[in-house]
Amino acid sequence: MAEVKLSFPDGAVKTYEAGTTPLEIAEGIAKSLAKKSVTAKLNGEYVGMNDQVLEDGDFELVTKDQPEALKILRHSVSHLMAQALKRLYPDMHFGVGPAIDNGFYYDTDKADGQIAVEQFPEIEKVMHEIVKENLPIVSREITRDEALDMFKDDPYKIELINDLPSDEKISIAVQGEHIELDKGGLVPSTGWIKFFKLTSVAGAYWRGKSSNPMLQRIYGTAFWNNDDLEAELKRREEAKERDHRRIGAAQELFFTSQEVGSGLPVWLPNGAAIRRTLERYIVDREVQDGYKHVYTPVISNLNLYKQSGHWDHYREDMFPPMDMGDGEFLELRPMNCPSHIQVYNHKPRSYRDLPFRVAELGMMHRYEKSGALTGLSRVREMTLNDGHTFVMPDQIEDEFKKILNLMIDVYDDFDIHDYRFRLSYRDPENTEKYFDDDDMWEKAQKMLKGAMDDLELDYFEAEGEAAFYGPKLDVQIKTALGGEETLSTIQLDFLLPEQFDLHYVGADGEQHRPVMIHRGIISTMERFTAHLIEMYKGAFPTWLAPQQVRILPVNREAHGAYAEEIKQRLVKEGIRADYDDRNEKMGYLIRDAQTSKVPYTLVVGDEEVNGHSVTIRRFGSNDTVSKDLDVFEQDLLADIANHSRG
Ligand code: ATP
Ligand code: ZN
Repeated sequence: MAEVKLSFPDGAVKTYEAGTTPLEIAEGIAKSLAKKSVTAKLNGEYVGMNDQVLEDGDFELVTKDQPEALKILRHSVSHLMAQALKRLYPDMHFGVGPAIDNGFYYDTDKADGQIAVEQFPEIEKVMHEIVKENLPIVSREITRDEALDMFKDDPYKIELINDLPSDEKISIAVQGEHIELDKGGLVPSTGWIKFFKLTSVAGAYWRGKSSNPMLQRIYGTAFWNNDDLEAELKRREEAKERDHRRIGAAQELFFTSQEVGSGLPVWLPNGAAIRRTLERYIVDREVQDGYKHVYTPVISNLNLYKQSGHWDHYREDMFPPMDMGDGEFLELRPMNCPSHIQVYNHKPRSYRDLPFRVAELGMMHRYEKSGALTGLSRVREMTLNDGHTFVMPDQIEDEFKKILNLMIDVYDDFDIHDYRFRLSYRDPENTEKYFDDDDMWEKAQKMLKGAMDDLELDYFEAEGEAAFYGPKLDVQIKTALGGEETLSTIQLDFLLPEQFDLHYVGADGEQHRPVMIHRGIISTMERFTAHLIEMYKGAFPTWLAPQQVRILPVNREAHGAYAEEIKQRLVKEGIRADYDDRNEKMGYLIRDAQTSKVPYTLVVGDEEVNGHSVTIRRFGSNDTVSKDLDVFEQDLLADIANHSRG
């Protein structure tokens, strides 16, 4: 009888009869190990627990507690779903069905009609039946001819088989009557699958090509236990609720449309009110910190971007130049730095002018890939809270800290606390992508790290995330969809001052080269607003709320004039107040003010008119308080001024 020699991860080497299954091997070691072993790996390739081990090599069992096991589970659930679908719709065709980050999907093509989420319970029911049948899952190698015959009714699978290189082994996974074209990495039997849920369905072109048929991609997720599944479903539900695109539509903050163009949002009055508040706030704050605010053109001569290096390093993200026909090419700017350099260079500078801080709410255009565009958080036209500081080399560290402190102060004003600092370095494996000066990179990266350590701030380091001109500090925040994005950024730049031959006259009377620091505090108006919407779930603190006060007269005839008087008075103070004159029941109007998340709802009737007072209901509260109108106005102004969340 032939034997196989297997080396285990702990170094042990054991000999088994060829054809022994991983399940038998695991059971031979310990019953408990067999119970939690999901699959095995032989020389890095999957061997199912019920399959035969026929070769010598490195052998390892993948147990439930390993992260890899979750992928195997989810991959197996995609097969389980396909089997159930096939039982329900025998004519259905299948594309591919992999595990993905948070679950799995399968691309499907139903001969007649479409799958809707309403059918999910029915599909899940059949899936649970197959789980009960506890069908063993077995893999086997087959020939190309066998494969072509087996899948002859499945045009997408046939295409996949035909595309396999001629020397590639073809294997299948079989569970009961169901056969999958599959390389392995599956649980031992359908009974292993218990906690799963189908979550959504979306259109997807076959193999991602828009010239191919549109299939239906059915998504789901699965876990080893019910608590994890429930937690994930709850997280997704909450994420959906706070998605800025959903709230943006419900509260009429902004929209995007094909008519205007992808990634080009239109800010509606409510969204514009928030943005105006942000813009005023940050400009005032920066002026206090010594920044000179400017306005510079959104289009400039292309030469500016050739000189800066953007044309060489950043062209993919830039809109094509406009040929003006007279030899001049104009470019929609992707960044504001070259413009601010012009401000610096407008006249000779001396060491007494430094640090020289230029800032602008600078509109820029970037040709982001259409697949990446998301609501307000990734757009093609954006306005950056941009600023550039020109410093002497020995001022870098102080200026860096000053900017960081400004940023932390500003975050406090918005109650932003859930963020991580990332120090972004160049990729040491790929240095040709970056400005070529090893010494500069080493020094600058060290300086950033040193400053963070001095300030005792936590950070993580990421290689390959630097700008092409220098290392940076990024502030990473979480999005409702579970991803992470950069909000603020501080970037050191030794290159642009060279490219533009910048100088200052030092105390020694000689010409010197300044260093440039790029920084965005609240990032783009677009991304910052998206983040605020998700963070506040649409319930903005008073100072940011599109509508701060809504006045409801008990009876329009009797109290309308008083409501109007209050409104006029508040509006004069710069407060966003309105009076709801719809002919609806009071209960309805109060509920509507609450669902619109208006911070203050004022009810005014006889008592209020006579007493020159208001009855106030705060958002999220069922209690009311009455106040003299003058007192209310003072309290409201104080609430707005201190940016409190209320
Ligand atoms: P990202 O990695 O997110 O594409 P970046 O590193 O290219 O950003 P910078 O050039 O540093 O970005 O731009 C400054 C800030 O502008 C970013 O930190 C981010 O907050 C914001 N931003 C960048 N691109 C977009 C976009 N397409 N839509 C909205 N905001 C953006
Ligand atoms: Zn810049």
